[in-house]
Amino acid sequence: MVFPFKSIEDFRIEITEEHELFRKSVREFVESRVMPRWREIEESNKIPEDIYDEMVKLGFTGVGIPEEYGGQGGGMLMAVILTEELSRASTALSAAIGVRDLFVAPVLRYGSEYLRKKYVPPVARGEARAAHANTEPGAGSDVAGIQTTARRVNNHYVISGRKIFITGAAEADYLLVSARTDAPRTDKRWWGITTFVIEREWPGVRIGQQFRVLGLRGEQPYEVILDEVKVPEENIVGNVNEGFKVLMDTYDHTRIGVAAQGVGIAQAAFEKTLNYALQRETFGQPLIAHGIITERIADMYMRLQAARLLTYWAAALADKGRPEFVIAASLAKAYATEAAEWIARQAIQIHGGYGVDFETGVERYLRDAIITTIYEGTNEIQRLVIVRQLLRQAFGLKI
Ligand SMILES: Cc1cc2nc3c(=O)[nH]c(=O)nc-3n(C[C@H](O)[C@H](O)[C@H](O)COP(=O)(O)OP(=O)(O)OC[C@H]3O[C@@H](n4cnc5c(N)ncnc54)[C@H](O)[C@@H]3O)c2cc1C
Repeated sequence: MVFPFKSIEDFRIEITEEHELFRKSVREFVESRVMPRWREIEESNKIPEDIYDEMVKLGFTGVGIPEEYGGQGGGMLMAVILTEELSRASTALSAAIGVRDLFVAPVLRYGSEYLRKKYVPPVARGEARAAHANTEPGAGSDVAGIQTTARRVNNHYVISGRKIFITGAAEADYLLVSARTDAPRTDKRWWGITTFVIEREWPGVRIGQQFRVLGLRGEQPYEVILDEVKVPEENIVGNVNEGFKVLMDTYDHTRIGVAAQGVGIAQAAFEKTLNYALQRETFGQPLIAHGIITERIADMYMRLQAARLLTYWAAALADKGRPEFVIAASLAKAYATEAAEWIARQAIQIHGGYGVDFETGVERYLRDAIITTIYEGTNEIQRLVIVRQLLRQAFGLKI
């Protein structure tokens, strides 16, 4: 078997009729309800409430969450198809739905049964919204550098700190928050972080400024200020001082969703470009007949399909519980988001002047794609993960 995969099973992606029927229903929804309103989302920088409510009614908030916790089931592959199809119309929309994974994944994987039963079903049913607050002014990639503190007082903790770039924070009812409960150790830098579930309405939780980032118009992130927030100890997710592992394991899973965003953006940019290249004529010929453009379109499609296969493969490995999914998730995240960025850039170029005009709806793909290369582990960090995983699996080396 090709290193580091040990079984023929590792290369199998099982897309079923159920997956394709689901894709069809999401596509029908976005084409009739979202695509005609992309301008409104971009210009108002808000996702219309009726669109969000309709997604809840259609059960999108429960996709990938087990039925026993109020979800629709379906696993990672189904969630990837949802994200891909939503991103084909609006990356902001897929982020608004997808951000719940950053809350649900750690609670389901590390939380007590009490936390799972209390917090996951309302999120899965769309009755409550959730966000994930880890990044701080001084620490993004370097998670061990966070400075928010959680001080133990009797049977609860008191959390203080400032989190930035938090997607969906203003609408969230629940937040997964990381804080320092102990100092890092020289031999274990990751030691001393704990993850908690907090509720937005608790005293001391405040939503600060909204960031004005390049893309994702409709779902731009917020600052969250935590001022002596009292949290009961049963709201700890995982073990005290071992939250770093909770966070890393969460991102290993959720970054497959970012790869899916890349696939959706790339698909949209590709479709628009192919149509345009057939219709637009220069020098008496459609654009697609000019050799350079023909070649460019073939390259766009090549990268799009490679990105899709890597992403589905990572999701299939995660669904099978194969530990090798971690390397596949990083390959997919870095490749698919860079493919989206490159394809979006070519889409602009092939549209010429219209490509940089807001009204055409093409330049937004590039703005959104750039963000996907940054959040949930930058693509530089993905490359570190890939090499670390390879060395670990090949030589048992830990770097
Ligand atoms: C739109 C948006 C939404 C977001 N939503 C959330 C959210 O919901 N919750 C949340 O907690 N965070 C969120 N983030 C934060 C995001 O995850 C971080 O911005 C990201 O992880 C990078 O961290 P940083 O910005 O601190 O950059 P830094 O970590 O300071 O990195 C700066 C640059 O240095 C590179 N770099 C860093 N370390 C290394 C290294 N060891 N080797 C090589 N290169 C390195 C990085 O790749 C990057 O290019 C969001 C960010 C954005 C833009």
